[in-house]
Amino acid sequence: MNDIAARAKRIAKFIEPLRVEPGRKVRLPKDFDPRYKADLMTKKDGVELLRTGIGLLAEYQRRLAAEDTRGVLLCLQALDAGGKDGTIRHVMSGVNPQGVQVSGFKVPSAEELDHDYLWRYAKRLPGRGMIGIFNRSHYEEVLVVRVHPENLARQKLPAEAKGKGVWQRRYREINDWERHLTGNGFTVVKVFLNLSKEEQRRRFLRRIDVPERNWKFSAADVRERRSWDDYQKAFSEMLSHTSTPWAPWYVVPADRKWFARICAGAILAHTLIELDPQYPDVGEDARHELALSKKELEQETPEAGHD
Ligand code: AMP
Ligand code: MG
Repeated sequence: MNDIAARAKRIAKFIEPLRVEPGRKVRLPKDFDPRYKADLMTKKDGVELLRTGIGLLAEYQRRLAAEDTRGVLLCLQALDAGGKDGTIRHVMSGVNPQGVQVSGFKVPSAEELDHDYLWRYAKRLPGRGMIGIFNRSHYEEVLVVRVHPENLARQKLPAEAKGKGVWQRRYREINDWERHLTGNGFTVVKVFLNLSKEEQRRRFLRRIDVPERNWKFSAADVRERRSWDDYQKAFSEMLSHTSTPWAPWYVVPADRKWFARICAGAILAHTLIELDPQYPDVGEDARHELALSKKELEQETPEAGHD
């Protein structure tokens, strides 16, 4: 087996326990342990694996861009302090910034509320050859909007679109949308950074205690924390209904930042490996042109003084 095939196999095996099988009924917090770290015992082993993943990502991203036919969308969801920003920073550290587009989603604007709820996400989809990352995503529409129904009230929906069954309907619509994207060359992969309540408490305290981190904290974060159980329920329902064969969810243990980053990197690498984008074959005519150009360049007299 060649080197890439061996690494690909190792990565596939590593992320398998994190994937939510379609149709599986998930109950958080009991079904996924935020402190799980596979058989990786130390951060040092982990750093090595992360480097492997990042190297692979860089190569596959080059191929994806060169192929210019398909795109990848990685959706990141987590509770506050779950580590989304740091994960993006680390995982994408080795790739060409021109090939990546990161989009964050906050409270919707008046213009956004004037459209259907998927509109603002559709506007930020990656183009062909690109990796798109959603820092928060259309899943907020069945998370924060579900936990705080006043968000739904603000969406100016007609009665039939906000009544009974609205969440089941949104799951279906989201699944359909992702299937449409997949069918047209855009692979969707979803990562939930699964943080424990105690670890969130610690991270909030650090944000308060360390002056350089104060900007990351807001009193609203502690208010949201009061809805912890409702969020666990909303995440459980989301995972149970929207992990599909074409766009699976991965639940990444997030209490150890270094481990979460390895997992996210491995999931994205796995997705690209499965896609297996190829450098285009330029064809007979173009090869002939290359040969002509080469000849012309070689016939020029080299300038002196160039090493
Ligand atoms: P942050 O990521 O810390 O900048 O926070 C962004 C805030 O926007 C979070 O509190 C989210 O819950 C909120 N948010 C994101 N999407 C939506 C949405 N569709 N409806 C309401 N609030 C949202
Ligand atoms: Mg925040």
